[in-house]
Parts: sequence; C-alpha cells; structure tokens
Amino acid sequence: MNLELPKEDVTFGTMGEVKNGILYIYRLNCFYNLMTEIAYYIYGTDKCWYCGKLCRRGPGEPNDQRAKVTLDHLIPASIGGPTIVNNLRPACHSCNDKLKGDLTSEQFIEILSLQEQLEECSSQEDRIKLNKKIAMRRVQMRNELAKKRRGIIPYLPEEWISKDVTGDLYGTISPDIKLGKQFKRQDEFYQKYKRIRDPLVISDNGFLLSGYNSVSISKKHEIPWQLQKIVLENVFVYLRRGTPY
Ligand SMILES: [Zn+2]
Repeated sequence: MNLELPKEDVTFGTMGEVKNGILYIYRLNCFYNLMTEIAYYIYGTDKCWYCGKLCRRGPGEPNDQRAKVTLDHLIPASIGGPTIVNNLRPACHSCNDKLKGDLTSEQFIEILSLQEQLEECSSQEDRIKLNKKIAMRRVQMRNELAKKRRGIIPYLPEEWISKDVTGDLYGTISPDIKLGKQFKRQDEFYQKYKRIRDPLVISDNGFLLSGYNSVSISKKHEIPWQLQKIVLENVFVYLRRGTPY
C-alpha cells in the first residue's frame, strides 16, 4: 500500500523528506514523529476531525480557549491500529481520549450523529426510542471490537496487508531494543486474545519501521505466521552516513 503523503515536496527537518511522491526516511528512530508531522501537515492542527472544535498545537496564550490537538488513530491503537498517516487524524482531547475510547472512527461518527439526533429530538417517545437504539448499537459495537481483538473479524483493511514479504528484515535485530512497558502490554494482549496486536510496518526496501514488539512476542511464543505485514511501497529508508540509527 502507499503511505498518504503531501502532494508537494517537503522536508521534515533531519527526519526525512517527501520528494516526487516518495518519502525518504533518514533516521529510523523517528518514524513515529515523522508520521505525526506528516499527518498534521496534511490535516492541519486547528480543527477536530470529529466535532469541528477549534484546536491548537502547543501551549498557546493564557486566554486561548481552543482545545489541545491530539492525533487520533482511526483504527484504535488498542486493537492494533498502526501509527501511519493513513490511520491518523487531528482530534480534540475530549473526542480522542474521553469519548471515542476503543471505538473505530466509523463507530464513533455513528454514535456522534445519533447523539446529535437525540439532542434535536423534542418528542418524549422518540427520545426513548433513540436512547434504546444508542444503547443497542453500543453493545453491538463492543461485540464487534471483541471479535476484532481476537482476530475473528479483520481489524485492518484487507488492502493494507501484504501477502508476500519474504527474506530478513533490516533493523529487526537492533541489540538496543528495550522490552519495556509496551512489550508487556502487547504480550498480555497476546495471552488474553491469542492474536499479536500490532502489524509490522515495513519500508519498500525492507526496513522494519514499526512492530518490534510484535517480532519479539512472536519469537517468544514461536508464532511467526501470525504477523500481519504492511509494506509502504512509497517509503524508502536511506540512512545517511554518520546519522545515528
Ligand atoms: Zn472533538
């Protein structure tokens, strides 16, 4: 699949640059920051994708009423939604953290629209009906998410997943990878739901950009066939001489 990129050529500091529709990454350890910067570059930092509330990035002036912008994962990170531009949108803190929770963006948009209908509804009878519908949809959505966690239904769009990645992955065997909190959380996810949570994200020239923990977990439990792979065909890692990994 292709990573969503700005149409024009842009340089993102020393992290990388977009040139003729290709992203060249110059430092592997800033992949997440690069995804953040590109998502904000394309979608802006001044408006919530869901509720339209005005947003700001950074601290702002003392009387600034705008909400702090965050990046929401359309497919939630908690079920394995990758941190790539295609899956990121700017959202206000209350939509992202408080209201949306583990819902996918489609589910959340549906709930928002039902709640809007409820607010505009004047008949008591219709309100009761709508409230019932919202409660029922929430239960259905929870069930759907439970199936996605267990991999009973796909949690990623089929067109994102690459069927044929072979060979070794550069960057997989970095000796200084720390198996920290994230590893523990993902290992718990595996033990509970019997699915490795995060897909591998790989550049077109075979560098592992994201998913180190998934590799470690698959090694630990000896289950390499379970790894989903996303190959970003318009992304190349080009480590310049002297650049830190
Ligand atoms: Zn919002």
